Amino acid sequence: MLIVNAVEKMRSLADQYRNTGKTIALVPTMGFLHEGHLSLIRRARSEADVLVTSIFVNPIQFGPNEDLDKYPKDLQRDIILAQDAGTDVLFVPVAKEVYPENFQTFVNVKELTRGLCGKTRPNHFEGVTTVVAKLFHIVKPHVAVFGQKDAQQALVIKRMIDDLCFDVRMFISPIVREDDGLALSSRNKYLTPEQRRRAGILYKSLCLAREMIKNGEKDVSVIKKCMKKEITAQQGKVDYIEIVLPDTLQPVGELTGNILIALAVYIGETRLIDNMLLHLSG
Ligand code: AMP
Repeated sequence: MLIVNAVEKMRSLADQYRNTGKTIALVPTMGFLHEGHLSLIRRARSEADVLVTSIFVNPIQFGPNEDLDKYPKDLQRDIILAQDAGTDVLFVPVAKEVYPENFQTFVNVKELTRGLCGKTRPNHFEGVTTVVAKLFHIVKPHVAVFGQKDAQQALVIKRMIDDLCFDVRMFISPIVREDDGLALSSRNKYLTPEQRRRAGILYKSLCLAREMIKNGEKDVSVIKKCMKKEITAQQGKVDYIEIVLPDTLQPVGELTGNILIALAVYIGETRLIDNMLLHLSG
C-alpha cells in the first residue's frame, strides 16, 4: 500500500492509473477506522482496479464548538486496517494543502442540507460537499463509496454529483452495527462505559418505531413521542427525530412507501446519529 500526503503526487498517480486504463475507487473517511469504514473499503475493492482510501479530518465541516480538536486519531492503526481491507493508496493530505491561505470557494447543496443535521450544524454539509468535490478532483475516481449511516450526507453528495456532472458512480453501503445495534462511529470512543451502555437506545428506538408501524400505528407524532420517551428514559437528549421521504428528506404525510426514520441524540456531550429505511406497503 502506498501512503500519499501531497496533493500533486495523488493527482499524478491518479493520471497514471487512468492513462493505463485502470479504474479508481475512492472511500473518503476521517480516519480512526472501524468495521463500518472497512465494509466500505471492501465494497469499493470489488468495484475498481485501484482502491484509494482517504483519511482527512476536514476542518471546514466542524462548527466552532464541535470536536475538531479532539477528534480521535490513530494513523498507525489505520494504516494496518486500511491495508488489510485491500487499500492500494492511502491518501492522507494535510489541511494546509487542502485549504491554502486564500481558499474561498465552497460547494453548497441548498435544499437537502436545511433539515435534520443541517439545523444544528449549519455549515456542516457545505464543508462535506466542498471537501468531497476536492477529493474527486484530486483522486479522479470512477467510483466512490459512502455509508448509509450518514443518510443525509449520502443524499447531499449524490445531489452534488448529479448537479455538477461529476463522472463518479456512487455506492451507498449499509450501516454496520455493534451487537446491541449501536451504529459504529469513531465518536463512540468518547462514550464512557456507562454512556456506551445507554447509547444502545438510538437503535432500540428505531426498532420501536418500526414495530409500532408494523402494528398499525399511523400517526407520526405518536411514534416520535414514544421514541423520545424511550431515549429520555436513558438520559439521551434528542436533537431531532424525523420521519421523512428518503429522496427529499421532507416530512412524510402518511406512513406508506419508502420512509426514512432519522435521529440525532446527545449521550452526555457526544452527539450520535442513526437511521432506518423502511419499505412499507399499502
Ligand atoms: P467518517 O470517517 O465518519 O466521515 O465516515 C466515513 C464514511 O464511512 C462515511 O461514508 C460514513 O457514512 C461511513 N460510515 C461511518 N460509520 C459507518 C457505519 N457504522 N456503517 C457504514 N458506514 C459507515
